[in-house]
Amino acid sequence: MSMTTTKGGKGKSNGQAKAGVMRSPVFAEVGLPPDPDNLYTQTVDVMLHAAELLGVPHEVQIILAQPKNEIMVHFPVRMDNGDYRLFKGYRVQHNNALGPYKGGLRFHPHVHLDDVKSLALLMTMKCALVRLPFGGGKGGVKCDPYSMSPAELMRVTRRFCAAISHAIGPDYDIPAPDVGTNAQVMAWFADTYESLTDSNRSSWDALRVVTGKPVEVGGSLGREKATGQGVVDVCVELLPEMGINVKGMRFSVLGFGNVGSWTARIFQDLGAKLVAVMDHTGGIRNDGGIDAHALAGYVAKNGGVDGFEKVQAVTGSGNKKGQGATKISANEFYSTPVDVLVPAALEQMIKPDQAKIINAKVVAEGANAPTTPAGDRVLMDRGIEIIPAILANSGGVTVSYFEWVQNKSCTTWSVEKVDAELNRLMVAAATRTKMARKKYNTDMRSAAYIAALEQIGKVYAVRGIFP
Ligand code: GLU
Repeated sequence: MSMTTTKGGKGKSNGQAKAGVMRSPVFAEVGLPPDPDNLYTQTVDVMLHAAELLGVPHEVQIILAQPKNEIMVHFPVRMDNGDYRLFKGYRVQHNNALGPYKGGLRFHPHVHLDDVKSLALLMTMKCALVRLPFGGGKGGVKCDPYSMSPAELMRVTRRFCAAISHAIGPDYDIPAPDVGTNAQVMAWFADTYESLTDSNRSSWDALRVVTGKPVEVGGSLGREKATGQGVVDVCVELLPEMGINVKGMRFSVLGFGNVGSWTARIFQDLGAKLVAVMDHTGGIRNDGGIDAHALAGYVAKNGGVDGFEKVQAVTGSGNKKGQGATKISANEFYSTPVDVLVPAALEQMIKPDQAKIINAKVVAEGANAPTTPAGDRVLMDRGIEIIPAILANSGGVTVSYFEWVQNKSCTTWSVEKVDAELNRLMVAAATRTKMARKKYNTDMRSAAYIAALEQIGKVYAVRGIFP
């Protein structure tokens, strides 16, 4: 069972062998038909490839190839017009060997079981890589939060919480924000959970059931920007060795929500230049630099980057440094020359077609699973470095952990303390990944998974498997 004496398992002979071939016998053993287009089987394949390189025992591989629990619920909600609509919700609990299940809740029209399973597995890997005492989970509701009124969104949140309240808990499974949810949604969720659970329990303890809450109800300073801050911390640590100086570098961002906009603002404040942005509404470019702070304000008001170029044109600021932009197509976005491209939108956006035209030295994955295995192979063949999501975007769950610790100990940390601790853990996770890369002579993604699996393997080795 030793994790240290088995450098390289069956796949050892070629450390550079790429994932994405779904050859592991584990697929058949756990009843998972290999499907190259399915996000869950893609994610399992990457994990199993790393597990083989590391020599993770077979029993741990089969445990990790499927989540422990997959919870699916249907619940009715009264809409503002008086009609009732039935919603579908999920909570997938992938693994809790390292601690309580942990991971966000996504409200999106395309949420479905396999994606949630994949995102839950990624949470297990992220928490293990950063050495947080958490396992991995993920949940969501199939809905369009932007087409609902605040009152409808609140009722959906409260009903969903009620539907899964028996299956979560402050020391068992701790949700957080994700795509389509925010601190307000977490406040409604926490309030509902507290109302439904044991009244003898202190309300502050019950509120610990979710992280990413507003600061007024136990949220942590620094949590809102945490994922973007983590992307930047990891890049500051790794980019110099890739020949890039953050000060003065050119970067582009795909998706300008929480992760994209914070990454852009923090990079800009360190002297980097944002030259292209694309989101679901359109793309913009300015080689002289787009002002990330102005764009964040614009997107908060208008829901997307589209039209930013017109506003600047109307004010007559032209297309100079820090002002305005030109509208561009998706192909123009990907082929804009940059040092670093940060995909910070949804999964599976960088496929071979996009990977072929990306004009970046490094892709730093701010989103979860933004690159498909086939896209990954194209990037690797073209010599483009990838800073993988389980490392690059682990800052969010890390500050979630700080929030949970603060709630548990009835303390509040200053933002300086949060930032310093986040940086310490991000640098340690990046160092672990670099060491695994060197030791196993493999790519960064496999190395990050290896560094995560080392921890999970050790925990299974000492805990054993019940009975
Ligand atoms: N949804 C975020 C993620 O994918 C944060 C999860 C958390 O804080 O638990 O990492």
